[in-house]
Amino acid sequence: MAIERTLSIIKPDAVRRNLTGAIVARFESGGLRVAAQKRMRLSLAQAQAFYAVHAARPFFSSLCTFMSSGPVVVQVLEGENAVLRNREIMGATDPAKAAPGTIRKDFAESIEANSVHGSDAADTAAKEISFFFSELEIVG
Ligand code: ADP
Ligand code: MG
Repeated sequence: MAIERTLSIIKPDAVRRNLTGAIVARFESGGLRVAAQKRMRLSLAQAQAFYAVHAARPFFSSLCTFMSSGPVVVQVLEGENAVLRNREIMGATDPAKAAPGTIRKDFAESIEANSVHGSDAADTAAKEISFFFSELEIVG
């Protein structure tokens, strides 16, 4: 299996509730390694740029306001099939549909405030990682 990297964000709802350690523990026990990590507060413009692919969706404005409403933890996760593995550990976008034992099932507040972001494919992972990190900041 291929060692991959993926971009993960612990969203403002989870940081606000002091859940960053509990969430990182899910990734680590699920076989992924934190290869880069920083706490930051996104401006509205940065959130809009990051989620530009969703600009036409009805929830875009609310999503960007939410993502810039408080600190986030942005991280690179590394491991075997990291993109898919991260999505499995996160669970479905809508916590009501997320499988038992997933982060979103256990921690999400709503379909919007769903505690974590994860890249959805290898090419988007590469783009999203370079949005936040330089190669020098990533140590697997
Ligand atoms: P995922 O984060 O699972 O990849 P999407 O890429 O489809 O999901 O959506 C990006 C983010 O937009 C979601 O994580 C969630 O925060 C928000 N979102 C998605 N669908 C909705 C919706 N129907 N209503 C409100 N917010 C949504
Ligand atoms: Mg997505």
